Amino acid sequence: MARKVLVLGEVRDGSLRNVSFEAIAAAKTVAEGGEVVAVLAGETVSALGTELVQYGADRVVVVENDKLKQYTSDGFAQALLAVVDQEKPEGLVLGHTALGKDLAPRIAGKLSSGLISDAVAVEAAGGNIVFTRPIYSGKAFEKKIVTDGLIFATVRPNNIAPLAQDESRSGEVSSLSVDIKDLRAIIKEVVRKASEGVDLSEAKVVISGGRGVKSAEGFEPLKELANVLGGAVGASRGACDADYCDYSLQIGQTGKVVTPDLYIACGISGAIQHLAGMSNSKVIVAINKDPEANIFKIADYGIVGDLFEVVPLLTEEFKKL
Ligand code: FAD
Repeated sequence: MARKVLVLGEVRDGSLRNVSFEAIAAAKTVAEGGEVVAVLAGETVSALGTELVQYGADRVVVVENDKLKQYTSDGFAQALLAVVDQEKPEGLVLGHTALGKDLAPRIAGKLSSGLISDAVAVEAAGGNIVFTRPIYSGKAFEKKIVTDGLIFATVRPNNIAPLAQDESRSGEVSSLSVDIKDLRAIIKEVVRKASEGVDLSEAKVVISGGRGVKSAEGFEPLKELANVLGGAVGASRGACDADYCDYSLQIGQTGKVVTPDLYIACGISGAIQHLAGMSNSKVIVAINKDPEANIFKIADYGIVGDLFEVVPLLTEEFKKL
């Protein structure tokens, strides 16, 4: 059954986040040959419309307003709901990012719709659109279908392959004027922590440190390895609690969820709360002095040794490639 499906293009620092393209790929599956319409909301974002088309959107609707310069749930909900009202879609897909996690439940509430959150796969099977999502902190997966109403889902970054960019694709980019009003919160200024390198939640390679790194300086060899591999540095809560690094690096049940192609855990014991944030990584390498460490149970490759010896050796070897 062909459906019209809306996708929100997520913009950060003037660029589209990869998860937008992954959401388009998911929306294509939901649309089953129907139309995929991408939505852009922001102050000046229309120039990004073409890229969404190149990644598979059939059409783009842009809502520009100076009140959308910074993300607020109120403002973006009004923008997206206005597009929903105009387009009357049968499906809606957002990234399962900080923005998507905040916005999607609000939209679902306003539309009195259900929501399948944090999907890691979507397929058309047996006449249904079937979403797979992790449960019990990633220990199991459940499959869900929508039996009635809007097919509304958020998709976890780095799990659904985007379509290849095709610069020859063309599609209409139109604008919709929305009167954004009664904002309950207005963001005056965003003060960013200086972050180094690649965005952790979208990184293809993550090098994570735990209490085993022993100090803030102990993260330096991990940063070097991350640089060589074009990856990001993450951490266990143990390392964050010990003040070796910032909490923005924390991976796990109460931190970020990552699904990189390669996750290297250095000096991390493998507590269940940590595994909840990384166990779906495609290849897991663990470096730990303790051969009994729990992390080895889920690792594809385990290195029993001192991370301060092993990590620099790996960095040197990768530099040669
Ligand atoms: P440890 O358990 O102390 O492990 C350190 C490891 O380093 C050991 O295995 C040791 O053998 C190894 N090691 C030491 N020196 C070296 C060396 N030189 N070379 C190699 N290996 C070495 N944790 C998270 O990570 N993320 C979360 O989101 C999270 N949420 C939580 C939520 C709740 C409600 C609770 C109760 C806990 C949560 N935790 C979380 C904490 C979690 O239970 C663990 O305490 C934490 O993950 C342990 O961190 P760690 O593995 O770095 O430290």
